[in-house]
Amino acid sequence: MPSFTRRTALQLAIAGFVAGLAGRARSDALADIKVIVIGAGIAGLSAAQQVRALGAQVTVFEAGNRIGGRIWTDHSLGAPFEHGAGWIHGPSDDNPVKHLADQLDLDSFVTDDDNIELFGPDGTPLTLDDYERLEQIEAAFREVLEDGDRFAASDTVEDV
Ligand SMILES: Cc1cc2nc3c(=O)[nH]c(=O)nc-3n(C[C@H](O)[C@H](O)[C@H](O)COP(=O)(O)OP(=O)(O)OC[C@H]3O[C@@H](n4cnc5c(N)ncnc54)[C@H](O)[C@@H]3O)c2cc1C
Repeated sequence: MPSFTRRTALQLAIAGFVAGLAGRARSDALADIKVIVIGAGIAGLSAAQQVRALGAQVTVFEAGNRIGGRIWTDHSLGAPFEHGAGWIHGPSDDNPVKHLADQLDLDSFVTDDDNIELFGPDGTPLTLDDYERLEQIEAAFREVLEDGDRFAASDTVEDV
């Protein structure tokens, strides 16, 4: 009997995720077709779900040691911390990510962008001075971006 490795766990996680999604609507339009999906980010898993729902036999290959790609929720601190994507921007009925979240009965809540508190590396809340410095950094960053745009639109560095 093969030992239970991280790879086995990953395979089971992918199979479970795809099966959970695909179990909701199946047809046999792609029966007997074998499909390989590269990458178990949201795009790969959604593609796998779609073709599996049509009856295809799907194998998902993932280079990393977890599924999710740039969606990565870390629970090790006790509260969920998003290393990557966390927001469904504009969660209307036209948004496919909202459809996916609804299909999986995921919890969501509306965030209040005017009520955000930022903390420094030492864990203390930022002061008004810190916010002012952040605004200066943001303004300098915007200038760099604008310089980049001007450079891209010009023929020589002197034009910028
Ligand atoms: C910090 C951060 C915050 C973000 N916040 C948001 C947000 O709030 N809302 C939002 O909508 N979007 C957000 N995004 C963007 C969002 O995360 C990505 O658009 C989305 O997750 C991309 O999904 P994907 O499946 O296309 O690619 P990925 O998530 O990058 O998945 C690709 C997968 O393919 C694997 N892979 C690559 N090459 C191979 C290979 N050759 N063989 C096998 N496997 C391979 C990778 O390991 C990875 O798991 C954020 C991104 C970041 C980095």
